[in-house]
Amino acid sequence: MEKEILDFSKQVGDPMVEIGRLGLIEFSKKNKFSSLDELNEEVKKLFNIYTFKTSGRLGQVFSSNSKFTHNSTGKNLNERLKQALELYNGLIKESFDGYCLSCGKKDNLCSVSKTIFPLTTGNSNANFTSNFSNKFLMCKVCMTSLFFAPINMQKTTGRMGFMISNNEEINKFWSEENSDEFNANIVKNIDSLVDSKINIFENFIYNMIEELQEEGLFGDITFYLISNVDKGSEINVVHISENQMKFLHNVAPKFFKNELPTKQKDEWNYLIFKYSSKDNSGKFRTRKESIDGKAKTIKFQEDVIENKYYKSTIKYFNPLIINFIQGKSILYYFKKNLCSWKLTTIYLKEIKGMREERLNIIKKVADNLQLFNEDDKTFYKKIVRPIEMTKSQTEFRENLRILMRKFLSKSEKPLFTVDEMVLYILPSGESWYETKDILLIALYEKMNLEEETIENLNEGDEDE
Ligand SMILES: [Zn+2]
Repeated sequence: MEKEILDFSKQVGDPMVEIGRLGLIEFSKKNKFSSLDELNEEVKKLFNIYTFKTSGRLGQVFSSNSKFTHNSTGKNLNERLKQALELYNGLIKESFDGYCLSCGKKDNLCSVSKTIFPLTTGNSNANFTSNFSNKFLMCKVCMTSLFFAPINMQKTTGRMGFMISNNEEINKFWSEENSDEFNANIVKNIDSLVDSKINIFENFIYNMIEELQEEGLFGDITFYLISNVDKGSEINVVHISENQMKFLHNVAPKFFKNELPTKQKDEWNYLIFKYSSKDNSGKFRTRKESIDGKAKTIKFQEDVIENKYYKSTIKYFNPLIINFIQGKSILYYFKKNLCSWKLTTIYLKEIKGMREERLNIIKKVADNLQLFNEDDKTFYKKIVRPIEMTKSQTEFRENLRILMRKFLSKSEKPLFTVDEMVLYILPSGESWYETKDILLIALYEKMNLEEETIENLNEGDEDE
Protein backbone atom coordinates (compact mmCIF):
# COMPACT_ATOMS: atom_id res chain seq x y z
CA MET A 1 0.00 0.00 0.00
CA GLU A 2 1.24 3.40 -0.86
CA LYS A 3 2.34 5.77 1.86
CA GLU A 4 0.20 8.84 2.16
CA ILE A 5 -1.31 10.87 4.94
CA LEU A 6 -5.07 10.42 5.01
CA ASP A 7 -6.35 13.81 6.02
CA PHE A 8 -9.94 14.13 7.30
CA SER A 9 -9.47 17.62 8.71
CA LYS A 10 -10.79 19.54 5.70
CA GLN A 11 -14.41 20.43 5.00
CA VAL A 12 -15.93 18.94 1.87
CA GLY A 13 -18.77 20.08 -0.31
CA ASP A 14 -21.22 17.25 -0.02
CA PRO A 15 -23.44 17.20 3.09
CA MET A 16 -23.56 13.40 3.34
CA VAL A 17 -19.78 13.05 3.10
CA GLU A 18 -19.35 15.99 5.47
CA ILE A 19 -21.56 14.53 8.20
CA GLY A 20 -19.69 11.23 7.81
CA ARG A 21 -16.32 12.97 8.01
CA LEU A 22 -17.37 14.67 11.28
CA GLY A 23 -18.71 11.37 12.59
CA LEU A 24 -15.45 9.60 11.78
CA ILE A 25 -13.38 12.23 13.59
CA GLU A 26 -15.54 11.88 16.69
CA PHE A 27 -15.57 8.08 16.49
CA SER A 28 -11.83 7.66 16.12
CA LYS A 29 -10.78 10.81 18.02
CA LYS A 30 -8.40 11.81 15.25
CA ASN A 31 -8.56 13.56 11.91
CA LYS A 32 -5.36 12.32 10.28
CA PHE A 33 -4.15 8.77 9.66
CA SER A 34 -0.62 7.88 8.66
CA SER A 35 -1.64 4.79 6.73
CA LEU A 36 -4.56 2.92 5.26
CA ASP A 37 -3.93 0.18 7.82
CA GLU A 38 -4.38 2.63 10.64
CA LEU A 39 -7.64 3.83 9.09
CA ASN A 40 -8.71 0.26 8.51
CA GLU A 41 -8.70 -0.34 12.28
CA GLU A 42 -11.48 2.23 12.68
CA VAL A 43 -13.43 0.83 9.76
CA LYS A 44 -13.23 -2.64 11.32
CA LYS A 45 -14.57 -1.33 14.61
CA LEU A 46 -17.44 0.40 12.84
CA PHE A 47 -18.36 -2.57 10.64
CA ASN A 48 -18.26 -4.77 13.68
CA ILE A 49 -20.93 -2.58 15.25
CA TYR A 50 -23.00 -2.45 12.07
CA THR A 51 -22.93 -6.19 11.69
CA PHE A 52 -23.48 -7.17 15.28
CA LYS A 53 -25.48 -4.34 16.72
CA THR A 54 -28.12 -3.35 14.20
CA SER A 55 -31.48 -4.23 15.47
CA GLY A 56 -34.77 -4.64 13.76
CA ARG A 57 -36.33 -1.97 15.90
CA LEU A 58 -35.10 0.94 13.86
CA GLY A 59 -36.56 -0.95 10.95
CA GLN A 60 -36.55 0.66 7.59
CA VAL A 61 -34.57 3.65 8.74
CA PHE A 62 -31.36 1.77 9.16
CA SER A 63 -31.79 -1.37 7.21
CA SER A 64 -29.57 -4.36 7.64
CA ASN A 65 -30.18 -5.20 4.02
CA SER A 66 -27.35 -3.29 2.40
CA LYS A 67 -24.60 -4.93 0.44
CA PHE A 68 -22.32 -4.35 3.41
CA THR A 69 -24.43 -5.64 6.19
CA HIS A 70 -27.07 -7.72 4.56
CA ASN A 71 -28.39 -10.74 6.28
CA SER A 72 -30.08 -12.45 3.37
CA THR A 73 -27.17 -14.74 2.55
CA GLY A 74 -27.70 -16.97 5.54
CA LYS A 75 -24.07 -16.56 6.47
CA ASN A 76 -23.17 -16.21 10.07
CA LEU A 77 -22.30 -12.82 11.49
CA ASN A 78 -18.54 -13.40 11.36
CA GLU A 79 -18.71 -14.25 7.70
CA ARG A 80 -20.85 -11.20 7.00
CA LEU A 81 -18.33 -8.97 8.73
CA LYS A 82 -15.55 -10.54 6.69
CA GLN A 83 -17.48 -9.97 3.50
CA ALA A 84 -18.15 -6.31 4.32
CA LEU A 85 -14.46 -5.68 5.02
CA GLU A 86 -13.50 -7.37 1.77
CA LEU A 87 -15.88 -5.13 -0.15
CA TYR A 88 -14.37 -2.10 1.53
CA ASN A 89 -10.83 -3.21 0.81
CA GLY A 90 -11.81 -3.84 -2.79
CA LEU A 91 -12.77 -0.16 -3.07
CA ILE A 92 -9.53 0.95 -1.38
CA LYS A 93 -7.49 -0.97 -3.99
CA GLU A 94 -9.15 0.74 -6.96
CA SER A 95 -7.28 3.58 -8.67
CA PHE A 96 -9.17 5.58 -11.24
CA ASP A 97 -8.08 8.88 -12.69
CA GLY A 98 -10.29 11.94 -12.40
CA TYR A 99 -11.51 14.24 -9.67
CA CYS A 100 -13.28 13.31 -6.43
CA LEU A 101 -16.92 14.37 -6.72
CA SER A 102 -16.96 15.52 -3.13
CA CYS A 103 -13.63 17.23 -2.41
CA GLY A 104 -12.08 17.62 -5.84
CA LYS A 105 -8.93 15.61 -5.08
CA LYS A 106 -7.18 14.31 -8.21
CA ASP A 107 -6.61 10.63 -9.12
CA ASN A 108 -6.31 7.43 -7.10
CA LEU A 109 -10.11 7.34 -6.88
CA CYS A 110 -12.56 4.55 -6.32
CA SER A 111 -15.82 3.97 -8.09
CA VAL A 112 -18.72 4.33 -5.72
CA SER A 113 -22.33 3.41 -6.29
CA LYS A 114 -25.39 4.48 -4.35
CA THR A 115 -25.55 1.13 -2.64
CA ILE A 116 -22.30 1.77 -0.83
CA PHE A 117 -24.06 3.67 1.86
CA PRO A 118 -24.20 1.34 4.82
CA LEU A 119 -27.52 0.17 6.01
CA THR A 120 -29.22 1.15 2.80
CA THR A 121 -31.81 -0.87 1.02
CA GLY A 122 -32.35 -1.00 -2.67
CA ASN A 123 -30.35 0.15 -5.64
CA SER A 124 -32.27 3.20 -6.69
CA ASN A 125 -31.99 5.17 -3.49
CA ALA A 126 -32.94 8.49 -5.04
CA ASN A 127 -31.96 10.77 -2.22
CA PHE A 128 -28.52 9.43 -1.49
CA THR A 129 -27.55 12.96 -2.20
CA SER A 130 -28.93 15.35 -4.73
CA ASN A 131 -25.96 15.50 -7.09
CA PHE A 132 -24.99 11.87 -7.06
CA SER A 133 -25.48 9.80 -10.12
CA ASN A 134 -25.61 6.06 -9.89
CA LYS A 135 -21.87 5.60 -10.20
CA PHE A 136 -19.34 8.22 -9.35
CA LEU A 137 -15.70 8.65 -8.49
CA MET A 138 -14.53 9.52 -5.03
CA CYS A 139 -11.25 9.68 -3.17
CA LYS A 140 -10.54 7.16 -0.40
CA VAL A 141 -11.00 9.73 2.34
CA CYS A 142 -14.46 10.81 1.15
CA MET A 143 -15.53 7.25 0.40
CA THR A 144 -14.52 6.13 3.89
CA SER A 145 -16.29 9.12 5.44
CA LEU A 146 -19.56 7.98 3.92
CA PHE A 147 -19.55 4.83 6.00
CA PHE A 148 -19.52 6.89 9.16
CA ALA A 149 -22.50 9.07 8.18
CA PRO A 150 -25.22 7.02 9.91
CA ILE A 151 -23.56 7.27 13.31
CA ASN A 152 -23.71 11.06 13.08
CA MET A 153 -27.42 11.22 12.30
CA GLN A 154 -30.52 10.88 14.40
CA LYS A 155 -33.70 9.07 13.73
CA THR A 156 -36.65 11.45 13.43
CA THR A 157 -39.97 11.19 11.59
CA GLY A 158 -39.09 7.60 10.70
CA ARG A 159 -36.16 8.91 8.70
CA MET A 160 -32.65 10.23 9.33
CA GLY A 161 -31.99 13.83 10.31
CA PHE A 162 -28.72 15.66 10.51
CA MET A 163 -27.37 19.19 10.41
CA ILE A 164 -24.36 21.10 9.23
CA SER A 165 -23.50 24.58 10.44
CA ASN A 166 -21.10 27.30 9.39
CA ASN A 167 -20.01 27.32 13.03
CA GLU A 168 -17.55 24.49 13.69
CA GLU A 169 -18.43 24.52 17.39
CA ILE A 170 -22.01 23.62 16.54
CA ASN A 171 -20.87 20.73 14.34
CA LYS A 172 -18.66 19.54 17.17
CA PHE A 173 -21.54 19.73 19.66
CA TRP A 174 -23.76 17.69 17.34
CA SER A 175 -21.11 15.01 16.73
CA GLU A 176 -20.23 14.75 20.40
CA GLU A 177 -23.84 14.37 21.42
CA ASN A 178 -24.34 11.61 18.86
CA SER A 179 -21.11 9.88 19.76
CA ASP A 180 -22.00 9.84 23.47
CA GLU A 181 -25.43 8.42 22.83
CA PHE A 182 -24.13 5.92 20.28
CA ASN A 183 -21.53 4.60 22.74
CA ALA A 184 -24.03 4.51 25.58
CA ASN A 185 -26.38 2.47 23.42
CA ILE A 186 -23.63 -0.04 22.65
CA VAL A 187 -22.98 -0.48 26.36
CA LYS A 188 -26.70 -0.89 27.05
CA ASN A 189 -26.86 -3.36 24.20
CA ILE A 190 -29.72 -1.60 22.46
CA ASP A 191 -30.02 0.01 19.05
CA SER A 192 -26.72 1.74 18.62
CA LEU A 193 -28.01 4.31 16.16
CA VAL A 194 -29.31 7.45 17.80
CA ASP A 195 -33.06 7.89 18.06
CA SER A 196 -34.24 11.45 18.76
CA LYS A 197 -37.71 10.12 19.66
CA ILE A 198 -39.19 13.26 18.07
CA ASN A 199 -41.40 12.47 15.14
CA ILE A 200 -41.98 15.91 13.67
CA PHE A 201 -39.02 17.33 11.74
CA GLU A 202 -39.73 20.97 12.69
CA ASN A 203 -39.93 20.02 16.37
CA PHE A 204 -36.70 18.09 16.07
CA ILE A 205 -35.04 21.25 14.72
CA TYR A 206 -36.64 23.47 17.35
CA ASN A 207 -35.43 21.18 20.11
CA MET A 208 -31.92 21.27 18.71
CA ILE A 209 -31.75 25.05 18.49
CA GLU A 210 -33.05 25.32 22.05
CA GLU A 211 -30.20 23.08 23.18
CA LEU A 212 -27.65 25.04 21.17
CA GLN A 213 -28.73 28.44 22.46
CA GLU A 214 -28.51 27.06 26.00
CA GLU A 215 -24.87 26.26 25.22
CA GLY A 216 -24.39 29.78 23.87
CA LEU A 217 -23.79 28.45 20.36
CA PHE A 218 -25.05 30.45 17.38
CA GLY A 219 -24.71 30.16 13.63
CA ASP A 220 -26.50 29.40 10.40
CA ILE A 221 -27.50 25.75 10.19
CA THR A 222 -28.91 23.57 7.45
CA PHE A 223 -30.95 20.60 8.60
CA TYR A 224 -31.42 17.61 6.30
CA LEU A 225 -33.94 14.84 6.48
CA ILE A 226 -33.30 11.80 4.32
CA SER A 227 -34.35 8.24 4.08
CA ASN A 228 -32.42 5.35 2.69
CA VAL A 229 -35.26 3.38 1.27
CA ASP A 230 -36.49 3.62 -2.27
CA LYS A 231 -39.98 4.73 -1.45
CA GLY A 232 -40.75 8.28 -0.37
CA SER A 233 -37.14 9.22 -0.55
CA GLU A 234 -37.27 12.96 -1.14
CA ILE A 235 -34.84 15.09 0.85
CA ASN A 236 -36.18 17.82 3.12
CA VAL A 237 -33.85 20.72 3.73
CA VAL A 238 -34.55 23.46 6.27
CA HIS A 239 -32.28 26.42 6.77
CA ILE A 240 -32.15 28.06 10.19
CA SER A 241 -30.61 31.50 10.44
CA GLU A 242 -28.49 32.76 13.28
CA ASN A 243 -31.23 35.39 13.83
CA GLN A 244 -33.79 32.69 14.58
CA MET A 245 -31.42 31.24 17.18
CA LYS A 246 -30.78 34.65 18.72
CA PHE A 247 -34.51 35.31 18.89
CA LEU A 248 -35.05 32.10 20.86
CA HIS A 249 -32.14 32.99 23.08
CA ASN A 250 -33.82 36.31 23.86
CA VAL A 251 -37.32 35.07 24.46
CA ALA A 252 -37.05 31.46 25.66
CA PRO A 253 -34.26 31.39 28.19
CA LYS A 254 -35.74 28.42 29.97
CA PHE A 255 -36.40 25.21 28.19
CA PHE A 256 -39.11 22.77 29.30
CA LYS A 257 -36.89 20.76 31.60
CA ASN A 258 -38.41 21.18 34.98
CA GLU A 259 -41.62 23.08 34.70
CA LEU A 260 -44.27 24.49 32.46
CA PRO A 261 -44.22 28.26 32.00
CA THR A 262 -46.96 30.67 32.92
CA LYS A 263 -47.96 33.53 30.69
CA GLN A 264 -46.66 36.06 33.20
CA LYS A 265 -43.28 34.42 33.68
CA ASP A 266 -42.33 33.31 30.27
CA GLU A 267 -44.40 34.61 27.42
CA TRP A 268 -42.83 32.76 24.49
CA ASN A 269 -42.59 29.40 26.18
CA TYR A 270 -46.17 29.81 27.31
CA LEU A 271 -47.18 30.17 23.65
CA ILE A 272 -45.20 27.07 22.76
CA PHE A 273 -46.83 25.20 25.62
CA LYS A 274 -50.28 26.44 24.65
CA TYR A 275 -50.03 25.28 21.03
CA SER A 276 -48.34 21.97 21.91
CA SER A 277 -50.88 21.05 24.54
CA LYS A 278 -54.18 21.76 22.83
CA ASP A 279 -55.60 21.85 19.34
CA ASN A 280 -57.89 24.56 17.92
CA SER A 281 -60.97 23.07 19.49
CA GLY A 282 -59.33 23.24 22.92
CA LYS A 283 -58.82 19.48 23.24
CA PHE A 284 -55.54 18.08 24.57
CA ARG A 285 -53.35 16.80 21.80
CA THR A 286 -52.26 13.20 21.37
CA ARG A 287 -49.36 11.58 19.57
CA LYS A 288 -48.51 8.12 18.34
CA GLU A 289 -45.54 6.18 19.57
CA SER A 290 -44.44 2.70 18.74
CA ILE A 291 -43.88 0.75 21.92
CA ASP A 292 -42.60 -2.80 21.53
CA GLY A 293 -43.69 -2.76 17.93
CA LYS A 294 -47.24 -1.62 18.71
CA ALA A 295 -48.57 1.83 17.85
CA LYS A 296 -49.83 3.50 21.00
CA THR A 297 -51.71 6.75 21.40
CA ILE A 298 -50.20 8.94 24.05
CA LYS A 299 -52.11 11.84 25.58
CA PHE A 300 -50.50 15.18 26.34
CA GLN A 301 -52.35 15.53 29.61
CA GLU A 302 -50.99 12.26 31.02
CA ASP A 303 -47.64 12.25 29.30
CA VAL A 304 -46.59 15.82 30.09
CA ILE A 305 -48.77 17.21 32.85
CA GLU A 306 -49.61 14.24 35.06
CA ASN A 307 -46.21 12.60 34.68
CA LYS A 308 -44.53 15.99 35.02
CA TYR A 309 -42.41 15.06 32.05
CA TYR A 310 -42.22 18.52 30.54
CA LYS A 311 -39.48 17.71 28.05
CA SER A 312 -42.05 15.67 26.19
CA THR A 313 -43.88 18.89 25.23
CA ILE A 314 -41.73 19.09 22.13
CA LYS A 315 -43.03 15.76 20.78
CA TYR A 316 -46.49 17.13 20.00
CA PHE A 317 -47.69 18.82 16.84
CA ASN A 318 -47.40 22.58 17.20
CA PRO A 319 -48.44 25.00 14.40
CA LEU A 320 -46.41 27.82 15.96
CA ILE A 321 -43.20 25.76 15.88
CA ILE A 322 -43.90 24.63 12.31
CA ASN A 323 -44.35 28.22 11.10
CA PHE A 324 -41.38 29.52 13.06
CA ILE A 325 -39.02 26.83 11.80
CA GLN A 326 -40.23 27.17 8.23
CA GLY A 327 -39.47 30.89 8.42
CA LYS A 328 -43.10 31.94 7.98
CA SER A 329 -44.56 34.93 9.81
CA ILE A 330 -45.80 34.20 13.32
CA LEU A 331 -47.26 37.65 13.92
CA TYR A 332 -50.72 36.10 13.68
CA TYR A 333 -50.06 34.11 16.87
CA PHE A 334 -48.84 37.21 18.69
CA LYS A 335 -51.95 39.13 17.68
CA LYS A 336 -54.31 36.32 18.54
CA ASN A 337 -52.78 35.85 21.97
CA LEU A 338 -52.50 39.55 22.83
CA CYS A 339 -48.76 39.23 23.17
CA SER A 340 -46.70 42.04 24.58
CA TRP A 341 -45.19 44.80 22.48
CA LYS A 342 -41.80 43.72 23.81
CA LEU A 343 -42.02 40.17 22.44
CA THR A 344 -43.38 41.53 19.16
CA THR A 345 -40.54 44.00 18.68
CA ILE A 346 -37.87 41.41 19.48
CA TYR A 347 -39.40 39.18 16.82
CA LEU A 348 -39.79 41.94 14.25
CA LYS A 349 -36.29 43.27 14.75
CA GLU A 350 -34.41 39.97 15.08
CA ILE A 351 -36.22 37.91 12.50
CA LYS A 352 -37.96 40.26 10.12
CA GLY A 353 -35.12 42.78 10.21
CA MET A 354 -37.61 45.58 10.72
CA ARG A 355 -36.28 49.10 11.22
CA GLU A 356 -36.51 50.44 14.73
CA GLU A 357 -37.92 53.80 13.48
CA ARG A 358 -40.76 52.04 11.73
CA LEU A 359 -41.72 50.21 14.91
CA ASN A 360 -41.46 53.41 16.94
CA ILE A 361 -43.76 55.29 14.60
CA ILE A 362 -46.42 52.59 14.51
CA LYS A 363 -46.24 52.48 18.31
CA LYS A 364 -46.60 56.28 18.41
CA VAL A 365 -49.80 56.04 16.35
CA ALA A 366 -51.20 53.51 18.82
CA ASP A 367 -50.19 55.75 21.73
CA ASN A 368 -51.78 58.81 20.10
CA LEU A 369 -55.02 56.93 19.59
CA GLN A 370 -55.31 56.59 23.36
CA LEU A 371 -56.72 60.10 23.19
CA PHE A 372 -60.01 58.40 22.31
CA ASN A 373 -59.81 55.80 25.06
CA GLU A 374 -62.26 56.56 27.84
CA ASP A 375 -63.27 52.98 28.39
CA ASP A 376 -61.86 49.90 26.77
CA LYS A 377 -65.10 48.54 25.36
CA THR A 378 -66.05 51.72 23.54
CA PHE A 379 -62.46 52.21 22.41
CA TYR A 380 -62.42 48.70 21.05
CA LYS A 381 -65.71 49.13 19.21
CA LYS A 382 -65.02 52.58 17.78
CA ILE A 383 -61.30 52.46 17.03
CA VAL A 384 -59.84 48.96 17.16
CA ARG A 385 -62.55 46.90 15.55
CA PRO A 386 -62.71 48.98 12.32
CA ILE A 387 -58.94 48.46 11.93
CA GLU A 388 -59.32 44.73 12.52
CA MET A 389 -62.00 44.55 9.87
CA THR A 390 -59.99 46.15 7.04
CA LYS A 391 -59.48 43.75 4.19
CA SER A 392 -57.26 45.67 1.79
CA GLN A 393 -54.52 48.22 1.74
CA THR A 394 -56.94 50.83 0.31
CA GLU A 395 -59.41 50.20 3.09
CA PHE A 396 -56.68 50.31 5.71
CA ARG A 397 -55.34 53.60 4.36
CA GLU A 398 -58.86 55.05 4.26
CA ASN A 399 -59.36 54.01 7.86
CA LEU A 400 -56.18 55.72 8.96
CA ARG A 401 -57.36 58.88 7.18
CA ILE A 402 -60.67 58.80 9.06
CA LEU A 403 -58.79 58.39 12.34
CA MET A 404 -56.53 61.29 11.35
CA ARG A 405 -59.58 63.57 10.84
CA LYS A 406 -61.08 62.53 14.18
CA PHE A 407 -57.75 63.03 15.88
CA LEU A 408 -57.29 66.56 14.49
CA SER A 409 -60.63 67.57 15.94
CA LYS A 410 -59.22 66.90 19.39
CA SER A 411 -55.52 67.60 19.03
CA GLU A 412 -53.18 70.31 17.80
CA LYS A 413 -50.73 67.80 16.38
CA PRO A 414 -51.57 65.26 13.63
CA LEU A 415 -51.92 61.53 14.32
CA PHE A 416 -48.94 61.05 12.01
CA THR A 417 -47.13 63.19 9.47
CA VAL A 418 -47.21 62.70 5.71
CA ASP A 419 -43.57 61.56 5.84
CA GLU A 420 -44.32 59.06 8.57
CA MET A 421 -47.17 57.65 6.51
CA VAL A 422 -45.11 57.30 3.34
CA LEU A 423 -41.83 56.19 4.84
CA TYR A 424 -42.81 54.15 7.87
CA ILE A 425 -46.47 53.27 8.18
CA LEU A 426 -47.22 52.14 4.66
CA PRO A 427 -43.91 52.29 2.80
CA SER A 428 -44.06 50.88 -0.69
CA GLY A 429 -42.88 47.31 -0.95
CA GLU A 430 -43.76 46.45 2.66
CA SER A 431 -46.79 44.43 3.64
CA TRP A 432 -49.77 46.56 4.71
CA TYR A 433 -51.14 43.54 6.51
CA GLU A 434 -48.06 43.40 8.70
CA THR A 435 -48.47 47.09 9.59
CA LYS A 436 -52.07 46.39 10.51
CA ASP A 437 -51.10 43.49 12.78
CA ILE A 438 -48.33 45.47 14.46
CA LEU A 439 -50.66 48.41 15.08
CA LEU A 440 -53.28 46.05 16.52
CA ILE A 441 -50.77 44.41 18.87
CA ALA A 442 -49.78 47.87 20.14
CA LEU A 443 -53.44 48.81 20.60
CA TYR A 444 -54.40 45.57 22.36
CA GLU A 445 -51.61 46.10 24.84
CA LYS A 446 -53.22 49.34 25.95
CA MET A 447 -56.50 47.69 26.83
CA ASN A 448 -57.32 45.39 29.71
CA LEU A 449 -59.12 42.76 27.75
CA GLU A 450 -60.74 39.72 29.28
CA GLU A 451 -60.22 36.20 27.97
CA GLU A 452 -63.71 36.11 26.45
CA THR A 453 -63.17 39.45 24.74
CA ILE A 454 -60.09 37.88 23.19
CA GLU A 455 -62.26 35.09 21.82
CA ASN A 456 -64.66 37.62 20.36
CA LEU A 457 -61.81 39.63 18.95
CA ASN A 458 -60.56 36.69 17.01
CA GLU A 459 -63.85 35.45 15.74
CA GLY A 460 -63.80 35.29 12.00
CA ASP A 461 -60.01 35.32 11.83
CA GLU A 462 -58.64 32.59 9.69
CA ASP A 463 -56.89 29.95 11.75
CA GLU A 464 -53.64 28.36 10.71
ZN1 LIG B 1 -12.64 13.38 -1.74
